Amino acid sequence: MQFDKTVTQRHVSIMNDVAKYKNIIRRSVWGAMPPTSPLVPDWGYDSIVVHYTGHNNLTTPHAIQGYDIEHDHFDDIAYHYIIEPGGLVYEGRELIYKGSHTYQQNTGKIGIVCVGDYDSGFLSLLRGHGFSGDPIRHPMIDSLRDLTKYLNIFFAIRTFGGHKEYGFSATCPGDQLLPIVQSIRQEFGFSAPVYRAFK
Ligand SMILES: [Zn+2]
Repeated sequence: MQFDKTVTQRHVSIMNDVAKYKNIIRRSVWGAMPPTSPLVPDWGYDSIVVHYTGHNNLTTPHAIQGYDIEHDHFDDIAYHYIIEPGGLVYEGRELIYKGSHTYQQNTGKIGIVCVGDYDSGFLSLLRGHGFSGDPIRHPMIDSLRDLTKYLNIFFAIRTFGGHKEYGFSATCPGDQLLPIVQSIRQEFGFSAPVYRAFK
């Protein structure tokens, strides 16, 4: 199917409807910086990519946006939604725009980042997160599941997975969170991503 990739009023109103769900905290409320340059429209999403913030100790939407712009030189926060461990959901990059979360294959992919370090092992230990990384909290998983369910009402989501399953990440969303992502995929009957090696 060919999707219209220009921003229409209908897209904005669906984005707003999604945001009303579960009181997603809008950019204007958490005080997002405007994008540093005009973003590319996207729509017709058929995939969801789950990420973690990992080892960088980025715990707030401000910190994530600052890192993505200053360190990664993106035009805005990379992800469309941010879920913190207590289950609060923040709006990231506006859904009408293409994300910057899955290298060279962002088109049609909604990016959701879970705040925390869900790796086990020495890397997490060295960063002060403990050998098992951060504990995975139920409210965060419930919000991930609910947000997915709701997005699937507006978009015919087919593919759901962790970042590393799509390619170009060795660890994201962490070896502790990935099995949970895979079980949500099974629960919804979504397909696993096709792994794309970086060329
Ligand atoms: Zn990632």
